[in-house]
Amino acid sequence: MLMKSVSLSLLNLFLLVSPLLAEENSKSSPSAPTMTQPQISLSDEEWKKRLTEEQYRVTRTAGTERPYGKIYEEFEKQGEGTYYCLCCGVELFTSKEKFHSGCGWPSFYDASTAKNVLERADHSHGMVRIETLCKRCGAHLGHVFDGESVSANTPTKRRFCINGVALHYVPKGGEAPKLLELGSSAVEKKKEAVAKEAGVSVSKP
Ligand SMILES: [Zn+2]
Repeated sequence: MLMKSVSLSLLNLFLLVSPLLAEENSKSSPSAPTMTQPQISLSDEEWKKRLTEEQYRVTRTAGTERPYGKIYEEFEKQGEGTYYCLCCGVELFTSKEKFHSGCGWPSFYDASTAKNVLERADHSHGMVRIETLCKRCGAHLGHVFDGESVSANTPTKRRFCINGVALHYVPKGGEAPKLLELGSSAVEKKKEAVAKEAGVSVSKP
């Protein structure tokens, strides 16, 4: 009887603690960024200031650019080079992984070796798809599709269907874009605004 009550109270304790543990696990640590907490996080207002309307719509609100647009035409003509995140400047793809799928959007069979492309399940629009995002800033890039006929001849048999507007192309030998840093003026201003709201004075240098 005693054993039973002990095990029951242990069970109760576990049930009490497990939701707390689950909550703790869902919080991301700096070494393993998830999309709920990207390394670079700006307010919508800050992104709007930095991006054009179309860039903002696609990258920050999971929009989709029109297929076979001007950006796609340019993409098809581009030679060797690297594709960086338009929002934060991190490397995402290179021309090595690029292939012609004919779908009307820039296509790659894999992310670059820099491994800055995250994948997560997307159940929007009544479909089950895999969304691709920038690991560093959470920018929506597009989706990735497996086992289609158009990617059958690629090494991975995958098609990263990417919005060209989310990419910043630099030809081989060109200078990589500057990474958007946490200490950028935009972030500092945001901190200042938050501190102001909280009634804390921020001394200016
Ligand atoms: Zn990014």
